[in-house]
Amino acid sequence: MPITTTELTLTTLTPLWTGGIDGATDRIHETGLIGSLRWWYEAIVRGFGGWACDPSQHLCSVEQGLCTACQLFGATGWRRRFRLLVINDQTTPAWQGNQLLNIRPPGRSRGWFLPPGRVGKLSLRVTGEETAVATILALLQFLARWGSIGAKPQLGYGVVNLTLPAPIEAPLPALSVSKSSPAQQQQSQNWPSLQHIGFLRYRFQPSNPAWWSKRAGMERVITQIRPLAARGMVPIAPILKNRWRFQHWQKEWGDERLFWGSVSHERRRGQMGVSWAYQTDAGWEIRGWAWLAGLRQPAAVWKMLATPAIWDETLGVTGELTTFPNGPWQPWPPATINTLF
Ligand SMILES: [Zn+2]
Repeated sequence: MPITTTELTLTTLTPLWTGGIDGATDRIHETGLIGSLRWWYEAIVRGFGGWACDPSQHLCSVEQGLCTACQLFGATGWRRRFRLLVINDQTTPAWQGNQLLNIRPPGRSRGWFLPPGRVGKLSLRVTGEETAVATILALLQFLARWGSIGAKPQLGYGVVNLTLPAPIEAPLPALSVSKSSPAQQQQSQNWPSLQHIGFLRYRFQPSNPAWWSKRAGMERVITQIRPLAARGMVPIAPILKNRWRFQHWQKEWGDERLFWGSVSHERRRGQMGVSWAYQTDAGWEIRGWAWLAGLRQPAAVWKMLATPAIWDETLGVTGELTTFPNGPWQPWPPATINTLF
């Protein structure tokens, strides 16, 4: 299999968080990027009916066989099929110092704590067998379009613009996925799968450039947020999550802690990611995704998230909400997931 190398550029739309020592974000760490790529790749493989193990359970081995995700990302005794290197990191901390930005909407005793993350441009070099590199590029393109890269997606980090040297030839569904057996389907039914993930995109053109400053919970941090807003990014995710979770969530829908995670430091990961607001050529945008498994009433949760009036009222603007699926919630049949790529 021929080895190939591609270089690409990422430009942050919201800060990128890839971990660091003592909460400091000294540079972009490749492991943080790869971790998020694997999480989404597993969800995509399962979404297409393939087998991707839960890496924390050490189910795969070279002797007994590797799942589609371990084949690409590695397992004990099997090296990763690609190398990913940050070759030109021009990012800088989103703010100086390591103090956390505390966003505390009314009614919350502690609120959300946001670390600085890094903003700017960085280049990556991906090297490996042709199919492995093609898969990583397609995965990055999918995340640039719908998700985020790096850690803390629930807090809205890691939305990026991706610049590739050439258009992608093979989108992800074209890449081979080994079908899971009935026993594997049973075992993996509660693991993240694209079949149970819905996507949201909200676009708005505020008449007031400081549209964010009057939102309840933002007044206390105006001076910290102003320089971020000037760079086209506003950490509005906690305000939206607070509204959905504490004003609209109904007990009968399911365990709210399971879906939203724990508030302050998000020790529990949660099943919903909503980005900061970020500025694009076409105006401001916020994106989100929700993994709707394990709930008693996923359709009701989706209906809440897909209600434009809640977005409008919470943000104090009038925007346009696009949802995928476009309409009532139902898990994506594998044949229709293609429309996301
Ligand atoms: Zn595996």
